[in-house]
Amino acid sequence: MLMRPTLDSFAVVPAALRKAAIAVALALCGLFATQASAATVEPDCFLAGLHESLADIERIAADAEPGNCVPAKEVSGLGDWTVVFRLPADSNAEYLSMRLGKVDSVAVSARNAEGEWRRTTYAGDKLTASYEGPEMVAGLPQDGGEARVVIAAIEGSGHPPTILKSAITLNDPAEYDTRLIELMLLSALVGMVVIPALIYLGFFRVLSETFLIWYALFSISLAGIVLLRSGLINVFVPLPVDIWRIANIINMALVVAFAVMLTSRFIERDKLTPQFRMIAPYVAGWTIAMSVIYAGDPPFLEPFGSAFHTIGMVPAALLVCAMLADAYRRGSRSVILQLAAWIPLLSLFLLQILNAMRSANAYSDFLPWFYVSLLWQVVISSWAVADRFFVMKRQRDSAILEADVLSRRSERDPLTGLYNRRALDSRWHDLQSCDYRTVAILDIDHFKTVNDVHGHIVGDQVLKIIGQVLRGDRDNIAIRMGGEEFLILLRGSDAVTRADLLRRRVTVRVAEEMHDLEMPVTASMGTVTLPEKADNRLEFSDVYSRVDLLLYEAKRSGRNRMIARNWDVLKLETFPDKDSVAAE
Ligand code: GH3
Ligand code: MG
Ligand code: MG
Repeated sequence: MLMRPTLDSFAVVPAALRKAAIAVALALCGLFATQASAATVEPDCFLAGLHESLADIERIAADAEPGNCVPAKEVSGLGDWTVVFRLPADSNAEYLSMRLGKVDSVAVSARNAEGEWRRTTYAGDKLTASYEGPEMVAGLPQDGGEARVVIAAIEGSGHPPTILKSAITLNDPAEYDTRLIELMLLSALVGMVVIPALIYLGFFRVLSETFLIWYALFSISLAGIVLLRSGLINVFVPLPVDIWRIANIINMALVVAFAVMLTSRFIERDKLTPQFRMIAPYVAGWTIAMSVIYAGDPPFLEPFGSAFHTIGMVPAALLVCAMLADAYRRGSRSVILQLAAWIPLLSLFLLQILNAMRSANAYSDFLPWFYVSLLWQVVISSWAVADRFFVMKRQRDSAILEADVLSRRSERDPLTGLYNRRALDSRWHDLQSCDYRTVAILDIDHFKTVNDVHGHIVGDQVLKIIGQVLRGDRDNIAIRMGGEEFLILLRGSDAVTRADLLRRRVTVRVAEEMHDLEMPVTASMGTVTLPEKADNRLEFSDVYSRVDLLLYEAKRSGRNRMIARNWDVLKLETFPDKDSVAAE
C-alpha cells in the first residue's frame, strides 16, 4: 500500500524554504560576481545600415567619420546595423556574441595589426548558441592573426538587444572556472524552482486543489526560463539558435499563462470576483497564441520587433494585477503573500514594457535581476502555498471536530445530557472489553406520582438532577434508557457498592435541590456483575432482561433498594417471569 503524506508534513516546508532561500541568496551574489567578470569588449560605434564594402570598412576602421556613429541611446536595434569594435593588443579575441534574437545574416570583418582584412559571413540560422547566456555567437575569421578591429554588419535584427548588447568575447583562461561555478549555481537555481513543484504535485494527491497543478506547471516553466535564458540548456543539448529562440518565446508564454491560471485558482474562491476566474483561461490562451505567432516571425510583425511580444503580455500582467488587487480588497488572506511574491517580477516586467515603448533606447540588462526576482517568487509562493495548506488543514480539522460534536450530540439525551440508548448499542462490546462488567438499571419509584402531583416540569427537573448525579467518571457510564429508567455501567472492584451509592445519592441530591416536593424521591436498582472472561459472548439484550428482572424484584420487595447478583449465580437461579411479577 502506498503511504500518503499527511498534512502535518507541511510543517517542515517553511523552515526548509528559509534555509534554501539563504543558500540561493548567497549563490546569487556569486552569479552577480561572475557576470561582472565576463571579459568582453563593448561596441565602439553603431552605424545605421550595412557597411560591408572594403572602402567603407577601411574608412570606418580609420575612424575617418566618427560623426556618423549613432549614440547608443538612439539605436533602435531593429533592421540593419553595423557595429564597430576596437580591441586592445594581445586580447585573444574569440568571437562576436549577440543577444539571442532574430537576425537574417551577420558579416564579421576583422583587421589584424598588419592592416589585412578577413571576413566570415553567417546566415542567421547558422549562428551558434552560447552557454554563456541568452546569446548567439559568430566566430571571428580564422587565420588572420590577432584581430585589432572588428566590424559586424548585422542584417534584419528583430530584437534591439541583439545589436545593443553585442560584444567581442576575449579568451580568458581563468574565465572557464568562473563560468563553471556560474553553471553550477544556475543548476542549483533550476533545482530550487523544480523541487517545490514536485512536492506540491505529490500533495495534490492528498488535497485535489487544482492550484497545485498550476503551481507545479508554473514552477517548471520558470525553471525552463533559467535553463533556456542562461544558456545552461546548451551545455546539455546544444540547440540551433532559431530553435532556441522559439523555445525561449514559447517558454516565456507558458510562464505567463500559468501565472495567470495559478493566481486565478490560488486565491480563495469567495475572495475573487467570479468574472476574473472566468476570463483567466482566455487571457492565458491569448498569451500563448500571441507568442506562437511572434515565434513564427511573420513579415507583418517585422516593424515592431520584440516589442510586439512584450506588449502582447500586457493583458496577462494587467489581469494578474487586477486579481491581486481585487482579492486584497475582498480581504483575502492568501493574497498578501502572493502580492509579495509577485512584486519583483511584475515591476521588472513593467520596466521592460516601458523600455519597449521607448523604442529600446537605454535598454538595460535585466537578466541578473530576473534571476533574483524569480527566486523570490518561488520562495514566497511556496510559503504562500504552505500557508494555504495550514488554513485548509485548520478548516478541515474544525469540520471534523464539528462532525464529531454532532455525532456525539445525536448520542446524547438532551434533557439529562447523559448518553442515550443509541450510544450504548454501538459500544456495548467495546465497553465489555474495557472491563465495564457491572450493569445496573436504576428506576425512580412512583415517578408517575411526582408528575401527577407537581406537574411535568418538576418531573423534568428531577430527571435533570439525576442526570447530574449519574454523570459518568472514568469508571462509570450512565445511559438514559427512556422515561425515568437509567442504565449504569461500572468497572472496578467496588462497582456494586458504587452503584448503590449513586442510587442513594439521587434521593439526597433531589432533596437538597428541590424543597417543594412532598415526598422524598427514591429509586430502585437491579445490578448484575458479569464474569471476567465473558468477553463478547454476552449480548446486551440478554443481560438487560436479566437486570430488568432484578429491578422488578427490588420494586416488588418494597422499592428504594438495590438487588445485585453475579451473572454466574443468576444463571442458576430461576426467576418468575416478568409478567407474573407485574401481576402480583
Ligand atoms: P415505579 O415505582 O413502579 O417505577 O412507578 P412509576 O410511577 O415510576 O412507574 P411508571 O412506569 O408507571 O411511570 C413512569 C412515569 O414517568 C410515567 C411518565 O409520566 C413519567 N415520565 C417518563 N418520561 C418522562 C419525562 O421525560 N419527563 C417527565 N416529567 N416524566 C416522564
Ligand atoms: Mg418508576
Ligand atoms: Mg419506569
